[in-house]
Amino acid sequence: MKVVIVGFGLGGLGSARHIAEQVPDAKITVVGDEKPYVRHKLRLVTQGMDLWVNTRHIESKGVEILLDKVTKVRRAQKEIVLSNGQTIQYDYLVLTTGSNPTIPSKLKGGDKCAVFRRLEDVHRLIDERPNEVAIIGASFVALHVADASRAIGAKPKVIVRSRLIRRSLEPELSAKLEEFLAEKGVEFVHGKPKEVHDGKVELEDGSDVASEMTFMATGVSPEITLAKEAGLELMDGWVIKTDRQGRTSDPNIFAVGDNATVMDILTNKPIYMGIGTAASIMSLNVAKALTGFKASYRVPRYQRDVFFGGIHMTSIGLTSIEAAKEGFEVDRMYLSGDGWGDHAYIVYDKKTKKIIGFSSISKQDVGWKSIDVLMAMIRKWPLTKLGFNI
Ligand SMILES: Cc1cc2nc3c(=O)[nH]c(=O)nc-3n(C[C@H](O)[C@H](O)[C@H](O)COP(=O)(O)OP(=O)(O)OC[C@H]3O[C@@H](n4cnc5c(N)ncnc54)[C@H](O)[C@@H]3O)c2cc1C
Repeated sequence: MKVVIVGFGLGGLGSARHIAEQVPDAKITVVGDEKPYVRHKLRLVTQGMDLWVNTRHIESKGVEILLDKVTKVRRAQKEIVLSNGQTIQYDYLVLTTGSNPTIPSKLKGGDKCAVFRRLEDVHRLIDERPNEVAIIGASFVALHVADASRAIGAKPKVIVRSRLIRRSLEPELSAKLEEFLAEKGVEFVHGKPKEVHDGKVELEDGSDVASEMTFMATGVSPEITLAKEAGLELMDGWVIKTDRQGRTSDPNIFAVGDNATVMDILTNKPIYMGIGTAASIMSLNVAKALTGFKASYRVPRYQRDVFFGGIHMTSIGLTSIEAAKEGFEVDRMYLSGDGWGDHAYIVYDKKTKKIIGFSSISKQDVGWKSIDVLMAMIRKWPLTKLGFNI
């Protein structure tokens, strides 16, 4: 069986590794336009960390790695075309092309406007060494830029329209996170950016935020160029639609990671996660599918992060706001201490008492407790099984 993987990020690396293990007789070729590195640790390059991933373990299993760009997928011929015109045949193709940062058109401004997605982006920050960095956005990427900026001695100013990491945190925890990060020297400016110029960001209320470099952390859009040209089905015209195992509308083509949908365990709907934990599970599902396995591993959205070396954020499943939108009858429980860290919320369904979401902000890690919650959510246990009397 000939398997070609396009893209060599977390999804490509995971796919190569799992397919080599699960289908030992597969001839696997990975084509990526970058060598693999740990993208979610980009900020640590400012502290001298080497992010390159050693690929010896997959090469020793016969995986061929090509550093090139794929320019076309020819489904009828079951082949891909490389930038030099060379073609490679496949029985199965796995698209792991990731995503690209998006910048709202009215905020595209100036030479000092930057994004934070690839190694060259963090090197640019290090090389330009600004004293003041404005960051537009309130996602975890925005906070990684703040962390990286502080590490090179710059003052980070995060411009927040609504609240921090709102898709992952209960509202009170966004406020707590802001409080904790302000103690670490991050300045928060609440407002709506109007225009970005070299030297400042202009807000809609007429005020300015001075900045020598402005990072746009305003979201990502899946890299779907190849899939779109090849006529694969997309969800909302925006992301590659896949089934539970990662198969696209072409049964010989799979999609994994930030370019594809994933089936959400709580809502049973295809959704976009765009996080590394999802890419890892998706790559295992593709490998299993190639062995003929019919089921799939499914997880809720799961994120753990540490900001500024000591502020731990954990988020699992849905926030109470998202859960209510999905039609759940929601209740919440506040937890503090006893291993739950400084501030945590469990979100659950009022009728069934099953867990729908969990988020926490703490100066201590809540690792074990969060794994208990994750397991309970996957097993669809009621809260009483975790010892709560509600
Ligand atoms: C700053 C930052 C912090 C993050 N923190 C977290 C975190 O804490 N937790 C978490 O779970 N996730 C985090 N993420 C998200 C996580 O990094 C991504 O979900 C993950 O990298 C997705 O992997 P991927 O393989 O789908 O895509 P990518 O890592 O983007 O890899 C795709 C690769 O494909 C290449 N490619 C695209 N098109 C072609 C082509 N035509 N030919 C050849 N190659 C091609 C791209 O250049 C890229 O190298 C973070 C992301 C960023 C940027």
